[in-house]
Amino acid sequence: MKIGILGFQGGIDEHRYMVNESCKELGIQCDVVNIYRSQHLWNVDGIIIPGGESTTITKLINRMNMDIDLRDFIKSGYPAFGTCAGLVLLAKKAIDRKTGKELTNTLGVLDIVVERNYYGRQRESFEVDIAIPILGEKPFRAIFIRAPAVIEIGSGVISHAKLSDSHIFVQQRNIIATTFHPELSGDTRIHRYFIEIIRSSKR
Ligand code: GLN
Repeated sequence: MKIGILGFQGGIDEHRYMVNESCKELGIQCDVVNIYRSQHLWNVDGIIIPGGESTTITKLINRMNMDIDLRDFIKSGYPAFGTCAGLVLLAKKAIDRKTGKELTNTLGVLDIVVERNYYGRQRESFEVDIAIPILGEKPFRAIFIRAPAVIEIGSGVISHAKLSDSHIFVQQRNIIATTFHPELSGDTRIHRYFIEIIRSSKR
């Protein structure tokens, strides 16, 4: 299995580490590659879009003329996993909570409405144990860093976890996304869940 990580900015190495650990645990032979050109896409079985700064990553995707190919890749059914800024990039609509300004040029493949920087200054970063039923009984330690929140989901979107009134882990068929950073918690369950999606998409 070959897994790509969008390699412009953010937690790239952390995701690579978690994918490698997950593959070991699942007994799967995995290759992890960084993706920063369209032509890299067609060699991988799925893609991770890491956190970072969504405005910066969007600019870089556009500068490299990757937006259309990235959108086609995911729309054609290849699995995608976005974390934090990665979730913002996948969203149909993303607005900044403070300024109300919409981030244009998102990929728009995931039918959710997102508010960026939802938790404001005082709670810029925090950690909390979350119950995520599809991952089993043990709570997941979720790490939020200037995180967005999913305030609306379309009818084809499943919410796997919530924090107060907003969704923090969503799925639409081949796409999963979290507002928090599973690559930082040392818990491989969400990465393993993603790898299982890739595995079943390849069958
Ligand atoms: N606030 C950032 C954004 O909107 C996301 C932060 C993160 O990925 N940790 O891009």
